[in-house]
Amino acid sequence: SASRPLNFIEQIITQDLERGAVEAIVTRFPPEPNGYLHIGHAKSICLNFGLAKRFGGTCNLRFDDTNPAKEDQEYIDAIIRDVEWMGFPVGKGGLSNVYYSSAYFDQLYQWALELINNGKAYVCELSPEQAREYRGTLTAPGKDSPFRDRSVAENLAEFEKMRNGEYAEGACVLRAKIDMAAGNINLRDPILYRIRKQAHHQTSDKWCIYPTYDFAHGQGDAIEGVTHSICTLEFADHRPLYEWLLANLSVPAEPKQYEFARLELNYTVTSKRKLKQLVDETIVDAWDDPRMPTIAGMRRRGFTAAALRKFCDLIGVTKSASTVDLGMLEYAVRDDLNENAPRAMCVLKPLKLVITNFEEHFGAGDKVVQQPCHPNRSELGAREIPFSREIYIDQSDFTEDTSLSRKKFKRLVLGEYVRLRGASVIKAEQVIRDDDGNIAAVECTLVANTIGEDPPEGVRPRGVIHWVSATNCVTCEIRLYDRLFNDASPDAGGKDYLQCLNPSSLEIISGAKAEISLTQATVGQGYQFEREGYFTLDSRYTTAEMPVFNRTIGLKDNWAN
Ligand code: ATP
Ligand code: MG
Ligand code: MG
Repeated sequence: SASRPLNFIEQIITQDLERGAVEAIVTRFPPEPNGYLHIGHAKSICLNFGLAKRFGGTCNLRFDDTNPAKEDQEYIDAIIRDVEWMGFPVGKGGLSNVYYSSAYFDQLYQWALELINNGKAYVCELSPEQAREYRGTLTAPGKDSPFRDRSVAENLAEFEKMRNGEYAEGACVLRAKIDMAAGNINLRDPILYRIRKQAHHQTSDKWCIYPTYDFAHGQGDAIEGVTHSICTLEFADHRPLYEWLLANLSVPAEPKQYEFARLELNYTVTSKRKLKQLVDETIVDAWDDPRMPTIAGMRRRGFTAAALRKFCDLIGVTKSASTVDLGMLEYAVRDDLNENAPRAMCVLKPLKLVITNFEEHFGAGDKVVQQPCHPNRSELGAREIPFSREIYIDQSDFTEDTSLSRKKFKRLVLGEYVRLRGASVIKAEQVIRDDDGNIAAVECTLVANTIGEDPPEGVRPRGVIHWVSATNCVTCEIRLYDRLFNDASPDAGGKDYLQCLNPSSLEIISGAKAEISLTQATVGQGYQFEREGYFTLDSRYTTAEMPVFNRTIGLKDNWAN
């Protein structure tokens, strides 16, 4: 990241610092606590905290909590957990302090009075329908509200009544008095305060009027001394209002707003409202379901914070909207795990092999073999794997069909040889069937002196396969995930994203057999299960008796886009 060219925001900041426009930068990440953070928020987090880190500034985590109806403490806690997990510590000693827009309600109220006193705000009693009609359209100017010319004294009295709960919700609002003919609709006397007779998670019953996003946001930035307030492109049209409010209020600082393109990922929905619907309708098991594009879901799935940061760096920060291929995120995850995840063996669909000459070579009991935890990172150490008379291999790694070419089937064929990863070369001698005629086991023999050694001439293993000891392993459940949606743009115009769900986004395999070292697996650690993919222990369903592993991602990209 140090070597790529500066993005447009980094260029602006570099110039602002060079010409002394600011001494140190302050950015902010301002989620509304009405849901869990998703991959789009990850982009904003990497951008805002990343700038603070790079330019020696700070980034405020600000809960934009001006609408009590949809907000909850659960979301606040989850957001802090996710930001910190992303690698950006919050609070003392960190890059960031935690702020709440709701802490500014008193000051915002004073600023509302200041506007009223200066004849720049009024209490409007138009119904929502009337207000919409008066607002006009993109091509037609709006009309002045009949309440626009109320006196300062009347507005002060009415606003006081609003505050005291004397009006019902929706009966009136406080509006800025700007210009009903403005080309930018956001300047047509925008709403500053509305009535919500609802307790707030931070301020309890103190208020029944709440500031709008527009009235709270820029002023919050000013209170906190934010220098660069970076939001997504949809807010470009709000910038004139942002600037009008700062110019017309006695604020302590003058932050500047900049806009960048939000992250849109194909095969994904990134709207908290829609993600909440998936949770509420139990289409997924929770906000952190491993198929969710939430930070918590991706963490539970086994994505690493480093991979998410790498992805955000790869996609960059621009001013033009575009859709990013989900394959790019998957690439970043696979690349990180390939580099860092310890290797282990796990057989998903077990087939028993009995090595009839095992004792002859190794005596009674297990033969312990050693395997490096990572093929090219010796510092990750080695692990001991019990090799025993009875082992499991995957059902798909054995066939009785002797006609398959060596090229086509690099696994175990009846009458032929294969190497067991880290252990001996074996030969499949005979299939044992149960009463129904199904394969119950395969009897094999091992070739002497082939652990870590080439077999004698004439013995040609078809390939190397993974295996686990049948007598010294751990039975586990495996959860295989695929994309939650099978439509590249599930919420594109008019489409119902609930109709685009991939019916096979979750496959549960029970009775898988993992190498015994995986009894030590911990939540948060990723593993490469050799030849199967990357896996991590599931934090929700794992029990003392039964580990559950989530497949984070396969070894290869199986999606043709
Ligand atoms: P949603 O649309 O999912 O409800 P939001 O934008 O309403 O998201 P906020 O909690 O208000 O969610 O967003 C907090 C910050 O995250 C904002 O600064 C917003 O610009 C940024 N953000 C949200 N979604 C994205 C995205 N897809 N890409 C980049 N930044 C985003
Ligand atoms: Mg929002
Ligand atoms: Mg939004």
